[in-house]
Amino acid sequence: MPLGPKLREHIAERVRYYRELGIYDLYRREVANAVVARAPSPPSAGGAEDLFAPARPESRAGDPADALRIIREDLGDCTRCVLHRQGRKQIVFGVGNPQAELMFVGEGPGADEDEQGEPFVGRAGQLLNKMIAAMGLRREDVYIANVVKCRPPGNRTPEREECDTCSSFLMRQIDAIGPRVIVALGAVAARNLLGLNDSMASLRGRTYDFRGSRLIVTYHPAFLLRDPRQKGEAWKDLQIAMRELGLPAPRKSSS
Ligand code: SF4
Repeated sequence: MPLGPKLREHIAERVRYYRELGIYDLYRREVANAVVARAPSPPSAGGAEDLFAPARPESRAGDPADALRIIREDLGDCTRCVLHRQGRKQIVFGVGNPQAELMFVGEGPGADEDEQGEPFVGRAGQLLNKMIAAMGLRREDVYIANVVKCRPPGNRTPEREECDTCSSFLMRQIDAIGPRVIVALGAVAARNLLGLNDSMASLRGRTYDFRGSRLIVTYHPAFLLRDPRQKGEAWKDLQIAMRELGLPAPRKSSS
């Protein structure tokens, strides 16, 4: 049955709403697909509109760097969740190599990151740099982003709704970069990416298939600063990532 003009306009309005939120991945069930595909498209006031066209703006990008630039533009001066009016100084989009094979995903910006506009630049960032170096890589080799791109006030944990709203942009960053391995830093990142509510104990120590990448969970560097005894455990996680990337294990020091 073809879509009537009222229903079509109703669906168009809903699709436009999702696009404003940065969500472009909309799916139809197969049966509906067959029906709609045969339906004529009545011209609307703005002309004919393919409601279900793959409309991610970055799909026209020439390379991952271009795609990331387009996603950042689409994010704009974002006001999609309440974090935009809770004291953020700036949006912290992400940093690093747009063609990185390894991507780190943290929770959200802290005070230093909010100040400088770059993720992981404070004390936790210094430790992350050391973790990256221990893997035999440089910070500029990898890509680093967070689940939410605005600083939660007082460094509180981002709320579920804030994560859900912001994460469509993170997914688009991940798809643009296409890393071989993603390391989720801490429970908030791991739970949001994997859609699980498990403890760190059960999330760690294994790999997950995630959007064409292998995902590994480890502790957030800020947690490791509070409890340095867990650094050995984090190193075990990073070694899983190194195996997935085919990176050589570091030689044992003779001293
Ligand atoms: Fe927008 Fe994300 Fe910032 Fe919320 S946290 S205002 S969704 S950029």
